[in-house]
Amino acid sequence: MTATSTAFKATGRTAIFPGSFNPFTLGHADILERGLALFDHIVVAVGINAAKGARDDAERAADAIRRLYAGEPRVSVAVYDTLTTELALRHGAHFILRGIRSVKDFEYERDMAAVNAQLSGIESVVLFSRPELSALSSSVVRELRSYGVDTSPFLPHANPEQ
Ligand code: ADP
Repeated sequence: MTATSTAFKATGRTAIFPGSFNPFTLGHADILERGLALFDHIVVAVGINAAKGARDDAERAADAIRRLYAGEPRVSVAVYDTLTTELALRHGAHFILRGIRSVKDFEYERDMAAVNAQLSGIESVVLFSRPELSALSSSVVRELRSYGVDTSPFLPHANPEQ
C-alpha cells in the first residue's frame, strides 16, 4: 500500500470522499460541506490515476484542498493509489461519500457502490448535486482553462488559483 499520507483513525463516524479533484470545484465543496452534516470526520481522498505526472497533479490538488479546509479540523486529505476500500479501512472509515449530478453519474455510482460493498462491506452514501451545480465538472473547468477562460467562478473562493 503506497498512500502518501499518514492514516489516522478519527473517533466518531468517518467517511472518505474519493475523487480526482483535478481541480476541486464548487460542486465538490458542496458535497463535502453537506457531508459534514452527516459525518463527524471526512477524509478527502485524492486518487492518483495511471497517467504520467498524475502523482504531482494529485499532490497539488491535495495541497489546495488542505489550504481550503485548514480551519476545519473535521476534514483531512489523503493522496492514494490503492483500492478506495483499502484506504477507507486504513482510516477507519465505514462510509464512502459521493455526489450524483445525472443519470450517467447514477449508473456509475450504483455499480461502484455495489462493488465496494461486496469487497469490504463499506456503505456508500450519495448526495444529489444542487441543481445549479449539476453541470459543473473538473473536466469542464480544465477545458475552459485550456482556452484561457477565468474559471474562478467555478472554484471555492478561498482558493481560486488551485
Ligand atoms: P472521479 O474521477 O472519481 O469521478 P471527481 O473528482 O470527478 O472524481 O468527483 C468526485 C465525486 O464528486 C464524484 O462522486 C462526483 O460525482 C462528485 N461530483 C463532481 N462534481 C460534482 C458536482 N458538480 N456536483 C455534485 N457532485 C459532484
